[in-house]
Amino acid sequence: MPKSYDVIVIGGGPGGSTISTMLAMAGRKVLLIEREHFPRYHIGESLLAGTADLMNKMGVLDKVERASFVKKLGVTWLWGAQLEPWTVYFKDALATPYDHGYQVERGPFDQMLLENAREHGVEALEGHSVTNVIWSGDRVAGVEYRSSGTGIRQTAEAPWTVDASGQTNFITNQVAKKTWDEKLRNMAIWCYWKNATRLEGIDAGNIFLPAFSDGWWWFIPLRNEITSIGAVLDRDNYLAARNQGLKDYYLDAIQRTPALAERLGGAEMVDEMRVTKDWSYTYDSFAGKGFVAIGDAACFIDPLLSTGVHLAMLSGFLGAVSVNTLLQEDSPDEKSILSFYQEQYRLEYQRLKDQVYFLYGGHRSTDSYFWHARKTMDMPSATPKEAFISLIAGAFEHRAWFRTFLSNLDVNDSLRAMAEAFFQGGGPAQAAATSPLVKNPRWHQVNSYAIDGLRLRPAEILTPGNGQSLPLTDQLKQILSQVDGRKTGQEIVRAIGASDERGMQSMGAALREAVMHGAIVAHPGSA
Ligand code: FAD
Repeated sequence: MPKSYDVIVIGGGPGGSTISTMLAMAGRKVLLIEREHFPRYHIGESLLAGTADLMNKMGVLDKVERASFVKKLGVTWLWGAQLEPWTVYFKDALATPYDHGYQVERGPFDQMLLENAREHGVEALEGHSVTNVIWSGDRVAGVEYRSSGTGIRQTAEAPWTVDASGQTNFITNQVAKKTWDEKLRNMAIWCYWKNATRLEGIDAGNIFLPAFSDGWWWFIPLRNEITSIGAVLDRDNYLAARNQGLKDYYLDAIQRTPALAERLGGAEMVDEMRVTKDWSYTYDSFAGKGFVAIGDAACFIDPLLSTGVHLAMLSGFLGAVSVNTLLQEDSPDEKSILSFYQEQYRLEYQRLKDQVYFLYGGHRSTDSYFWHARKTMDMPSATPKEAFISLIAGAFEHRAWFRTFLSNLDVNDSLRAMAEAFFQGGGPAQAAATSPLVKNPRWHQVNSYAIDGLRLRPAEILTPGNGQSLPLTDQLKQILSQVDGRKTGQEIVRAIGASDERGMQSMGAALREAVMHGAIVAHPGSA
């Protein structure tokens, strides 16, 4: 007899642990099946500040903190036209509650996440491989799995199965089309060192990314004075390295990178050389009847921005609220919920990949990297540098699907003076204070979803259709009802203001935000 669950998760990496923990927190009966016995080795050691927030949501951050993994306050680059190293700090990122990420050995880190899943009620098997998908017509209905110890085969059934199998791509390989990215076909060669000299002061826990003639290096400080040092090379350079002999090449390339060589003077290699392909790819579908794919099972980006674990856990979070909603509703709109999941994950992936392209694309100024991020992040009031660090910190709290929907507030005309103050700070928002305003015709209303606890609820958004979006709150609806081509920003806030200072301020902030995003603009004739 097959065992029955609400959800089956294939794979116990960070993505699988995240989605199963969150579904168990929502009261779901979850079976997670992991092929290996943990702790097992895995590459992917440098985490983002946004990941700390996800760890907090799944109740594991305190345990990670207690394990004394190295704290990562920022990223130090030796990259582009600037000849000196430059550093960006997570504390300067917007929409991320934590000012640090961690540098983790994935063996113990992944084990901690898996134990945490068990503590939340997930039935997690190790040493069991999923061998087959069970289909019911064209729907995934469960899996067959086998114990590596006893060889015993079993089956489990569930209305939803999650492919969290990493680069095994267990379900996606069977049902979707994989596209390799032509521009990001790199190889990585790395090893572990003892007693490398770390960066100085508060930068000691940073990842250090020096570029060199054939590619770039990662320098990741781990616990116990161990440092992970890896070179990422394109295909031609890798073939040359292979001809030379990988170890010879690796040691020679270190000497050709003085900023790295000077840190390894008193250090020794303490492990075997490792090599892997880190080609970027995406599948044309991340979800379908009875399944969702998260993390590397859906898509993968070159490790330049250290985004893999973050994307696995973020898609785990988005997948959990989507699957929980599908299980909760009597007759859920399955297609639109799965589309929502897929679009949001793809958008996060695409933005980060776009920045990776730009960073690889020539010897540019640091400012140009910041400005590029400014163009792709929908954070209109951020400076270019803030946009860059927010992007590479894994910020997501500003997204329409995440943000708390503000409540509607009443009017009080007497707070006129305050309205003026809301528009201080320059730029388009200030100009909007005294210009008649109109709705931007490119922005339209679309039915979407917002995250409410561990489920999705229908919500309207405003969007120009490029991924940028604003939640259409009651407040924003009120504002839009007053935008008539005649009233200025100040007049609108005064007209619908609020009975108290807080309400007035939040109304002013909502209008300012809509103007900064470009959803409301000055009347063309008013310039
Ligand atoms: P995984 O962590 O791969 O977990 C998948 C799990 O599924 C595995 O434990 C596997 O054993 C199990 N599994 C597979 N098939 C089956 C099956 N049939 N049955 C049961 N279990 C199965 N990311 C970062 O965040 N920071 C970095 O610094 C970084 N550096 C990287 C450097 C390189 C060279 C590479 C290649 C990647 C790097 N990454 C980095 C990316 C990171 O490794 C991955 O993106 C991340 O581990 C994805 O998590 P996941 O949960 O999707 O998959």
